[in-house]
Amino acid sequence: MIPTYFPEKFKKMIAHWDDERKSGNALIISLKDGWHHPTSEAHVFGVDSIKEALSELRDCKPCQCGSCRTNINAGE
Ligand SMILES: [Zn+2]
Repeated sequence: MIPTYFPEKFKKMIAHWDDERKSGNALIISLKDGWHHPTSEAHVFGVDSIKEALSELRDCKPCQCGSCRTNINAGE
């Protein structure tokens, strides 16, 4: 579950929030179509903390890749 105190503008960017930290993995965030992570340009990225999640989401950019465009158009 996305923390309730998370800013709405970031919640709107998140498709899946998989907190696997209890099992020794990362907190994995899958972005909705139309967004990508700035450095990797991936639609999914992992972080180690909520604080890191916030700072990474702040840097995420609108994505115009073929896959995002196709999925967004399909949803309209
Ligand atoms: Zn994309």
